Amino acid sequence: MTNFSGAQDFGAGQVPLQPATGVAAHQRPAARFKFFYGPMDCGKSTLALQIHYNHTRQGRRGLLLTAHDRSGHSQVTTRIGLSKDAHLLSDEEDVLALARSLDVDYIIGDEAQFYSIPQIEQLATLVDEHGVDCYAFGLNSDFTSTLFPASARLFELADEVCRLQVEVLCWCGAAGQLNGRVFRGDLVRQGQRVVIGDTDEGELHYQVLCRKHYMRGELSPNVGS
Ligand SMILES: [Zn+2]
Repeated sequence: MTNFSGAQDFGAGQVPLQPATGVAAHQRPAARFKFFYGPMDCGKSTLALQIHYNHTRQGRRGLLLTAHDRSGHSQVTTRIGLSKDAHLLSDEEDVLALARSLDVDYIIGDEAQFYSIPQIEQLATLVDEHGVDCYAFGLNSDFTSTLFPASARLFELADEVCRLQVEVLCWCGAAGQLNGRVFRGDLVRQGQRVVIGDTDEGELHYQVLCRKHYMRGELSPNVGS
């Protein structure tokens, strides 16, 4: 029993059974890689700015990224009127080098469907090797209902994927799921993958549809009648 007789009594070669004070303080939660996806108008950019705000309030340093934002400027803009300056990512840019040069704690990546595959992989490296939390926001599929390559890579690599459904509805009232491209009143299924447009009316615009009406190509109840 003499081994337990006194906490101060460590002889030569003995080590305390308890870890040194302060070890637990170094155990930070592991960084996370999250992908939030959904159709146009589902509130992705709004949530991106909210998460950015929440982290900033905790004193964390963040980097806000966008690509091909609908405004055409280096901003994250939302359809409900919020906007925030952001770094406009170019195709060849190295996100890893950029984030490390700025010594950031987290990244909010909006319009992530337009990033390159290497850029998505650089986000994963930032999470795993540098402890940077990465939150990517984007469309999952294009106007042909096919996954964007960057979004497919995000599904493959992210720790969590979260489908956003903020009551964006097809004209029939069903949940909107697919991004239809409308040109002069008709749904089109062929053409360039990236043509920037909005969901407002216009010669070329986008309309979020449920799967049934996307497949039928019906943009309103009057079509074909
Ligand atoms: Zn519908």
